[in-house]
Amino acid sequence: MSAHRARKRFGQHFLHDAYVVSRIVAAFAPARDETIVEIGPGTGMLTRALLATGATVHAIELDRDLAATLEARCAGVDMGAGVDVDGRLIVHSADATRFDFGTLAGAGPLRVIGNLPYNVSTPLLFHLLDAGSAIGEMLFMLQREVVDRLAAAPDTADYARLSVMMQLRCDVEKLFDVAPGAFSPPPKVTSSVVRLVPRTVAPVRLRDPAQFANIVRLAFAHPRKTLKNNLRGVIADDALRALQIDPVRRPGTLTLEEFARLANAEFRTV
Ligand code: SAH
Repeated sequence: MSAHRARKRFGQHFLHDAYVVSRIVAAFAPARDETIVEIGPGTGMLTRALLATGATVHAIELDRDLAATLEARCAGVDMGAGVDVDGRLIVHSADATRFDFGTLAGAGPLRVIGNLPYNVSTPLLFHLLDAGSAIGEMLFMLQREVVDRLAAAPDTADYARLSVMMQLRCDVEKLFDVAPGAFSPPPKVTSSVVRLVPRTVAPVRLRDPAQFANIVRLAFAHPRKTLKNNLRGVIADDALRALQIDPVRRPGTLTLEEFARLANAEFRTV
């Protein structure tokens, strides 16, 4: 098989560090006979390690050349106890940001893993969350900066609109950092592994989820400015005070519960 030349437009940075792969697989801990989904299998370093646990892997790969050769790259994986790899790798030559994950859901929610293409990671996360109860847990390698945002608590430097929107829907747990040298070619940034578990019980009550998304977007339009400033024309200072939210606070100090209080209040929609 010819060596694959990494394509920049597909965000290709292939893992080549066996220790990092083993840590990722240990954190995901597929059960023998579990059916899992891998996004962006690339040259199959992680895929092989996943297959070796005895799991069945649905691999979704956008690059047609890589999708076409993945099965051959994964041939001969030792699964122990005479288990055959045949039929345990199902390759989907497709765009994960448009893929209908509901079609793969079996008995229970799917667990999804991947060293994601960083250029599409945020839309991909929201696309997965939109699959609702089809997805049970996700373990992803992402840019560290993005993981730090996903996991950030209010009133810290990394807390942003993305933190609020993800934490509304998932439990976020940052696991560990991975240096650029673990990849080929090395990315310019440090990466991190994160576990995301969609919430089965909403952490806050929302009158209208779209209204919540709207208010969070507006509130963070200028993160260094006050709420009073960002929400001018949307909600009056007195109304903010009535909600027990000081108008001179910055958006990055509000908890999920406070954003919910704002979103549930009656105000002029913009
Ligand atoms: N997991 C592999 C490769 C990671 S690089 C490894 O660790 O070695 C990211 C991979 O995602 C590449 O294989 C790239 O072709 C693929 N990819 C990029 N955009 C994608 C998309 N929208 N849907 C599915 N796969 C995608």
